Amino acid sequence: MIKKAAGFGYVIVFALYLFGVLLLLANGFSRLNSEAKDSENWVQQQMTNAISEIRDFYEVKLSSSIPVSDCDRFLRDSMPLLLASPYIRSISVAQGGVIVCSSISKQTLKQINNWKASGKPLELRYVTQTPFSELFPAHRQAILSLHFETKGFYGVYVAVYPESVFRTLGAPRFFQTEIRFENATFYSDGRIIDKKNSLPLGQLFFVDSDISITSFTKYIFYNYGVLLIAWTFIMLMSAKTLVRYIHSFSLDYWQIRKAIKHSQFHPYIQPVVNDSGEITGGEVLVRWIHPKKGLISPADFIDQVEENGQIVEITSILIQKCLLAFSKTNVAESNQHFRIGFNVCPIQFDSNTLCLDIEHFQSVMADKPVSLLIEVTERKEFSSNEKYRNAIHELRSRDVLVALDDFGTGHCSLKYLHETEVDIIKIDMMYVATIESGNTKILDNIISLARSLDVLILAEGVETQAQFDYLKARNIERYQGYLFGKPLPIDEFIQKYFR
Ligand code: C2E
Ligand code: CA
Ligand code: CA
Repeated sequence: MIKKAAGFGYVIVFALYLFGVLLLLANGFSRLNSEAKDSENWVQQQMTNAISEIRDFYEVKLSSSIPVSDCDRFLRDSMPLLLASPYIRSISVAQGGVIVCSSISKQTLKQINNWKASGKPLELRYVTQTPFSELFPAHRQAILSLHFETKGFYGVYVAVYPESVFRTLGAPRFFQTEIRFENATFYSDGRIIDKKNSLPLGQLFFVDSDISITSFTKYIFYNYGVLLIAWTFIMLMSAKTLVRYIHSFSLDYWQIRKAIKHSQFHPYIQPVVNDSGEITGGEVLVRWIHPKKGLISPADFIDQVEENGQIVEITSILIQKCLLAFSKTNVAESNQHFRIGFNVCPIQFDSNTLCLDIEHFQSVMADKPVSLLIEVTERKEFSSNEKYRNAIHELRSRDVLVALDDFGTGHCSLKYLHETEVDIIKIDMMYVATIESGNTKILDNIISLARSLDVLILAEGVETQAQFDYLKARNIERYQGYLFGKPLPIDEFIQKYFR
């Protein structure tokens, strides 16, 4: 009856799947980023340390060896720094464009072609063609030039290998860390690219990192591959169930919400009679009267509203509407006690709405011979627990009778009866229907079981005189069925039985 847009649930499930994947990607991205940041910090620190070590060393030891009339002494003094620092390849001294002393060649007075003294006190400059290019043609090195003008334009070249920084770090697998100098960039995969970088004023180098799409994808599959596959598998396997669940909570939920708001749920009442056929009460059965679709039977929505909890509100509406109708009726005059039954499912014991409605009903009807019956059934799996038993106990202590509905069907097991105190059991109509066929074994057993437990019996779905006679012969206390009357809108019911 309630139309379902087939695609809707799948769209939500797919969105849920995407959401999971995005969450995973976002987590991966932030982790990869923080790994990259760690690597940057580490490189930054190593470079800073190396430079400050060199500087300190220069200021304490080497500056006294310059000028370099004694190259041997300069080399001897610089040896401890060379040995101690893994990043330093060589130390040389130049004046103007000429190397005067170098730890790598021990040669003096060698012309340096691309030496450009900038006049800055400290400069980190990558020199593609080292003064020793003919000695080590394959080797490219970066040269940290310490330039002290006070010592007559001597320049001290300290060759630092950023590659060694990366080598110590171990090149990161999923991203590139890079060190940018004024005129070149070193990458953690070993590449060196000559290009001018604009560094902030006074900064010798700049460390950054670069995450490419390919490396990010690799990182995700490497670290989250199993999770991604598991998530895909879970979503594929549970898509159908989820779609069903979403439907029960989405489209129908909102339609029913609207129906509640527009007061489209109405109580119908079916009479309950004694063995003389006199009315003793009635069962309230809900009907959804839709402005376009007309009358919708509870079979089409009751499972959903019990599952999503909207039944709480619906029952409350039914109780109030019945209360309003009965409070306006002069029941006393009709001179009979009337027991009105409401169907309740166990989740309704989780909130106190039912309890408050019952209290209100009883207080308004205090001076009228109208009392309450609660019919409990369990359409889903049986779940008797302490809370549930207490609720039943509480109802009975407030003069509310409790009936076990649909007794003998899958919805209501013997265990149910065994664990709860009840006043009435309602024999399901499927057993009443067996009377005609003569196969009444189960029906007879249910009756004798009820007798042994000392509870009243109400037979449901009595449609024929033969059924009524059979049950009457077994002293069944109450009857309900089309033989006595169909469910009627509450006003018609009152009109028929109380006027
Ligand atoms: P139920 O509680 O077992 O109610 C009896 C059902 O049998 C009603 O169907 C009634 O119209 C039908 N019935 C009564 N006498 C006869 C008969 O002689 N022959 C036949 N063939 N059927 C008969 P209805 O009204 O369609 O309700 C279906 C079920 O929906 C109810 O079964 C009850 O479990 C549930 N329901 C109805 N109203 C409510 C409600 O307000 N709250 C809850 N939680 N459930 C409700
Ligand atoms: Ca019932
Ligand atoms: Ca029933």
